[in-house]
Amino acid sequence: MKVAVLTSGGDSAGMNAVVRSIVKCGILKGCEMWIVREGYEGLVRGNEEQPAPVQNEQNDDSTQAVSEENADTTSQQQCDPNLLHNLRFGDGQLLRDWTAEYVGGRTLKGRYIVRVGWDDVRGWFSEGGTLIGTARSAAFRTPEGRSAAAFNLVKEGIDGLVVCGGDGSLTGADLFRSEWPSLIQNLHAQNLITDEQLAAHSHLKLVGLVGSIDNDMALTDMTIGAPTALHRICESIDNINTTAYSHSRAFVVEVMGRDCGWLALWAGVAIGADFIFIPEKPPSEMPWEDHMCTEIRRHREVGKRKTIVIVAEGAHDKELNPIRAEYIKDILTERLGLDSRVTTLGHTQRGGRPCAADRILPTLQGVEAIDALLSARADTPTYMIGVQENKITRVPLVDAVRATKDVAKAIKAKDFDKASELRGPEFLEMLDGFNATSGLKDEKDKLPKHQRMRVGIIHMGAPAGGMNAATRAAVRYCIKQGHTALAVHNGFRGLLDDNVYELTWLGVDAWMARGGSELGTNRALPSIDIGGIAAKFQMHRFDAVLLIGGFEGFSALLQLEEGRQHYPAFHIPMVHLPATISNNVPMTDYSLGSDTSLNALVDACDAIKQSASASRDRVFVVETQGGKCGYLAAMGALASGASLVYTPEVGMTLDMLRKDVRYLKTRYSLDVPGKSEGRLVIRNEAASQVYTTSVLTKMLIEEGGTLFDARSASLGHTLQGGIPSPTDRARGARLSLRCMAFLEQHHVELSHKAHKARQAGAETAAVITIQASEVKWVAVQEMVKHADMTNRRGKTNWWGPVKDLAEELAGRPQFLGD
Ligand code: ATP
Repeated sequence: MKVAVLTSGGDSAGMNAVVRSIVKCGILKGCEMWIVREGYEGLVRGNEEQPAPVQNEQNDDSTQAVSEENADTTSQQQCDPNLLHNLRFGDGQLLRDWTAEYVGGRTLKGRYIVRVGWDDVRGWFSEGGTLIGTARSAAFRTPEGRSAAAFNLVKEGIDGLVVCGGDGSLTGADLFRSEWPSLIQNLHAQNLITDEQLAAHSHLKLVGLVGSIDNDMALTDMTIGAPTALHRICESIDNINTTAYSHSRAFVVEVMGRDCGWLALWAGVAIGADFIFIPEKPPSEMPWEDHMCTEIRRHREVGKRKTIVIVAEGAHDKELNPIRAEYIKDILTERLGLDSRVTTLGHTQRGGRPCAADRILPTLQGVEAIDALLSARADTPTYMIGVQENKITRVPLVDAVRATKDVAKAIKAKDFDKASELRGPEFLEMLDGFNATSGLKDEKDKLPKHQRMRVGIIHMGAPAGGMNAATRAAVRYCIKQGHTALAVHNGFRGLLDDNVYELTWLGVDAWMARGGSELGTNRALPSIDIGGIAAKFQMHRFDAVLLIGGFEGFSALLQLEEGRQHYPAFHIPMVHLPATISNNVPMTDYSLGSDTSLNALVDACDAIKQSASASRDRVFVVETQGGKCGYLAAMGALASGASLVYTPEVGMTLDMLRKDVRYLKTRYSLDVPGKSEGRLVIRNEAASQVYTTSVLTKMLIEEGGTLFDARSASLGHTLQGGIPSPTDRARGARLSLRCMAFLEQHHVELSHKAHKARQAGAETAAVITIQASEVKWVAVQEMVKHADMTNRRGKTNWWGPVKDLAEELAGRPQFLGD
């Protein structure tokens, strides 16, 4: 199959990762891969006829540029011939230099649809925007333009198209595919294509990927580029916060989002804004100016020195009158006497290096897109590749386009409940989350006294990004409902020392952006003195407990639950919210902190790779934390484009190392001389006791000979990250609020029982997990069945295939001929 990929509409971080993934996966599945420059405009313009053959004979012969020195010709002979053939149609410089007329064996002048090879997309991960160009094409909106596009595809023999763009681009794609049969019939009727071409191209195989910073597409939780845009926004507001605090100012920050408030809402939760304006849910009370001022005045009255209001560019009131940042600023100045400023983030939100999620998600979606394309038949629907929680999904493109339009229609009809509902349950939950964590309630509006709880909050294990954000959300919720939030400092040791303090609304205000653990954390479990712990539960009158931490959190909850046999104090609802960079808690795909950690790893690997590439031929062995769980290493390898990855689950053997050395030698020997790249090998700290990072590095130095050199870098505690990622903060808040709802519900149920017979069932000690597309509660006793207690990880891991995928995308099996 000949497959082309294009990027369209506004650029977004992660589009390059899409193209890289599509090109590599396509080649691995035996396809011939093409890119279309400048989006639909390039498709309409197509290629000028060339007087000379397009392909440079010399460069098509992949053995020409091979480094003869030290080349292992036997190994090269074993390589997958398709990969060798595709290894390069140039030297990897092609798409860096569009203005050149002739690069890497290809004539570019007047050509918009260009064949690409394996190495053309190397190193694309760390680049923002889209290297193949994007455009808004007026021509493609016309029937004539789409006819030209169809002709250009048929002319090049392309029968599969991957479009990565926003809702407009995918609407265009949907139209193009539905019109395709009539378009090519017309071309045939005009004698522009032959009978054979008509027969061979009777149906266009098309797949859509959503590349848009707005996250405005329905039927997917996340669009490609939205996480990076959220990073940019949160970085900016974190910086603004310090000035706002210093001068006790109010800042009105305008963020992108013409029709969609996702960025404003998520940023509002992640930075702990005071008020937000989004198109889907305008302020319910009119005049909204009064409502906003009342809220902000309350915040100031409890002692807040700064005010942050976030406004989406498409925000409006209930009557659809636009709400502008300047106007909000004037209201804050005039009515509240605040020293107010406006900051419009504009295009700073679009650009920059993609965050880890915008490398991982596009890569996984690219794999799915190629699979969807290869399995497409005339009667299968055109799919859009999306994601739900942690599951890559395929949904019919028409449904997604229709549902997206429905949101706009609902807004136009002033049906804001429907508009928010159409954005999906996570959006609704985040809205509730924002309201729960930003607002304050009058005493009369809080829960009746008998339903109120004293909630103990404990951090366990190593610090992880998002722990503080989760705690802040729990505290804010407690105060809003009338509960008492009690911080247990320094874990169970601190509890034994009565290191327990009540947390306040203002006291946790700045915690969203704080890394580490504000409560203090350690690995001591309740077993250090279970009786003493029970006594302290009783003394501090805990009605419920929220444990935030890693495997220790789970182990602690297990001990407390088992302790119920002997200690009535433990017959209260207790939950564990997983938070660990190792992501080793059983049965959950995600733990707080793992996203922050992956971002720290990606940042470090980008810098290391740059250094390795500057030396041209250097392999860096990067050691990661993670204990006996290889999640961070495997996902980090996928996110940084590492060539090899070693995990404790798979282990390391001599045979494996022998093959890996052969792979690296073959790969380096096939690089264009002088244009080798630095390569990464990622090794989890516990992958092997014998083949340590030092041994591995020395082995590579010895075996690399004149082909490559090796160095090592241990990332150690840097992986715990500094400032938590927006995803960890927003998810932390969301999951924490679910935990509070769980505790409230079981507290009410238990309080109905007569005191002496009060027995908390096993279901009241549970862990909140994300399993594929669902958030699920798992009783801790059930969890034990799925835990490998010796190695401190789950018995199964969903990310197991990621190791293989990362190595496949580096071509390891194919270069070895496996
Ligand atoms: P962003 O979310 O960044 O705005 P987008 O894909 O929604 O991205 P648009 O400008 O709406 O951006 O669309 C990009 C291109 O897709 C348009 O310039 C046009 O070529 C094509 N397109 C959009 N809508 C249609 C349509 N209804 N029919 C044909 N082509 C369309």
